[in-house]
Amino acid sequence: MDSRQTQEPVISLEGVTKNFGNDIMALDNVSLNVPEGQFLALLGSSGAGKSTLLRHVCGLHRPTRGAVRVLGVDVRTASERMTRRLRCRIGFIFQQFNLVGQLSVLENVCSGALGRLSGPRLGLFSYSSRLRREALEHLDRVGLADQAFQHAGTLSGGQQQRVAIARVLMQRPAVLLADEPVASLDPDSAQTVMRLLHDIVRDKGVTLVSSLHQMDLALSWADRIVGLQRGGIVLDTPAGALNTDTVMGIYGNAASSR
Ligand code: ADP
Repeated sequence: MDSRQTQEPVISLEGVTKNFGNDIMALDNVSLNVPEGQFLALLGSSGAGKSTLLRHVCGLHRPTRGAVRVLGVDVRTASERMTRRLRCRIGFIFQQFNLVGQLSVLENVCSGALGRLSGPRLGLFSYSSRLRREALEHLDRVGLADQAFQHAGTLSGGQQQRVAIARVLMQRPAVLLADEPVASLDPDSAQTVMRLLHDIVRDKGVTLVSSLHQMDLALSWADRIVGLQRGGIVLDTPAGALNTDTVMGIYGNAASSR
């Protein structure tokens, strides 16, 4: 048996419902276990609940009903201190990269370590040489060591997302969450970023949950595909043995029966 199956899941949602006000049910009784080292792609159209689910995993939302456990922490009842510590172990990758354009690429990457440092930092040389070396190694990994001293804002979208990935690695995360990480990128850059995320999961054993719009990218790079429709799970399947038509068939049928 795969030893991962015997371990507690890294992320566990049990019967999670999230209401915003009286009218909106963003998540509807969602149960989901994600084992260590899995790359899970969350698919679904706009408004399906993908971001809301991700925000529950990092403790930015509390469920209206149900339980969320991440890295052994009960997110709903955790103290503020526990939640802060948990967030240090969860890296978030955004659609719009969220780099500081006027700062160098290297300083942006170094800032990923702020959660494990005490006090603010101003300027590249306020980070230790050890941290700067570590940041350069991550930049090398994403293929951008040569751009280390360029302003981040001068890079292409695909390059900026790779810098953002190097920055999140400075957190030494156990869990990565990505909210539409390639939605603003051209197809070639999207493939490069997806390959990078896939390789990081494989090499570092981190657990990745990424929302995506593109089914083909999910099929090519993820281990597992979970489809959301109106806040509920309508598809949960390993990616390997499927093709786009099969998934569209299952997803379409399940979605229309909800
Ligand atoms: P997705 O990421 O799949 O596009 P979201 O999780 O952002 O979907 O949204 C799911 C539903 O919840 C939508 O109807 C959205 O308008 C609603 N929603 C999300 N966040 C909030 C919020 N903070 N307040 C009110 N409604 C929200």
